[in-house]
Amino acid sequence: MLASVLETYESWDLKKLSIPSRSRLYQLQPVGIGTPLVESLTGYISRLAEAHCVNPGVLMEKQLATLVNKEYGGANLHRIYNYTTALNGSGVMAKDLVQALQKLTLRDDLCFLTLLTWDKLFPSRNLLRSVRAWCPSCYQEWYEKKQLIYEPLLWSLDVVKICPYHHHQLICECPHCHQKNTTLAWRSQPGYCSKCGEWLGLILSQESANRNALKKNELEQKIWSAKALGELIAATPYLNDALSPTTIALTLSKWVEQIAEGNIAEFARQINVPRNTVWLWCKGKNLPSLEALTNICYCFGVSILSFLTEENNNLSLSKKLGATEAKTTLRTRNKPFNAERVKFYLEELLKNDESPPLSMEEVARQLEVNRKTIYKHFPDLCRAISAKYDSYQKDYHKKIIEECCQEVRLVAFELHNQGKYPTESAVSELVSRPGYFRYKKVRLALREANRELEL
Ligand SMILES: [Zn+2]
Ligand SMILES: [Zn+2]
Repeated sequence: MLASVLETYESWDLKKLSIPSRSRLYQLQPVGIGTPLVESLTGYISRLAEAHCVNPGVLMEKQLATLVNKEYGGANLHRIYNYTTALNGSGVMAKDLVQALQKLTLRDDLCFLTLLTWDKLFPSRNLLRSVRAWCPSCYQEWYEKKQLIYEPLLWSLDVVKICPYHHHQLICECPHCHQKNTTLAWRSQPGYCSKCGEWLGLILSQESANRNALKKNELEQKIWSAKALGELIAATPYLNDALSPTTIALTLSKWVEQIAEGNIAEFARQINVPRNTVWLWCKGKNLPSLEALTNICYCFGVSILSFLTEENNNLSLSKKLGATEAKTTLRTRNKPFNAERVKFYLEELLKNDESPPLSMEEVARQLEVNRKTIYKHFPDLCRAISAKYDSYQKDYHKKIIEECCQEVRLVAFELHNQGKYPTESAVSELVSRPGYFRYKKVRLALREANRELEL
């Protein structure tokens, strides 16, 4: 029978087909790998749970707990609630969960949703904040633009206090129920409070967001840090092998040499860190925390990414500060030209509606940088700032002229009431801005008033 069938349908191939293996859970694509706002692993779990129409707690308990069977509590959410931040970190909890999830989704890129690639680079203490933090403006903007709502890994770094895009402080307390959220909760859902279930998006006005809470220079440093760390996170997938703890010790030693002629005490003074601490870092016996490293990089205007990728940082430092130049700079306490700092400052200035806007002269004075240097580096930003200033000046001038015209009119009528002839010199003696008679419009206003008085 079979033989006759095969004769009839010779093209039938009875060999077993090779079907690619299926993943137990959806192979949900993580958001933004290779960008500053890559998704966090805990946020990914929330979205994955949502895709399967269950709570993250159920996903963890039913699917992941069996694969992560560890003494610390594994994936048993009830036992690890207060440590869930570590799931995005660089330690064993993140590692176990990534492995388990990769098995279930058959994805191989989930480690980039954690800090696992930095595991030897930064001490894990205080690397991540203990509770969930978010930028309400980011949520709201994504919602309004109908974009995917998710939780960026950047928000979980303790040193990141500001949203690098909206320049607001990150929020840790729900505005509805005033409670804090654990990084992952039984009912976590991106954009919503896991305690009361309310939407957390909101467009904050600049002043309510941080004008009151932060001084300008503090804000500037925090924006710089958030952007610099975003840059590092974005580059991490491509830099796997280049990030080494020895680089930190070597580069710091080099900087001590270049900036303070090898004098650790002097260098330590410049960065406000105890001398012994710097010595331990330079000898590679201790690693600076991510926060300390961010501060050092900010001090010398070198991005953290450049610092960690050796050739680049040498280049930028020697370019920016030749050895002698650096010493002079530090001695005279002038700030070296810090392109990133200047750029952030200019961008920030363009975003805010502070009135009156600053002229480029004033900007240069505040930044303690030569105006020509700023123009050379950022011609477009400078032109935009000048245009904003000019436009304000024009409007302001127009407003003043109008005020003068009104005043001139009132004074003319008043003089007329007193039986005096409102000549230009008589009026100019009584108005608050007599010099403005040099403007045609003001002179015309007087002529117009006299015409009304039939003079
Ligand atoms: Zn934001
Ligand atoms: Zn709430």
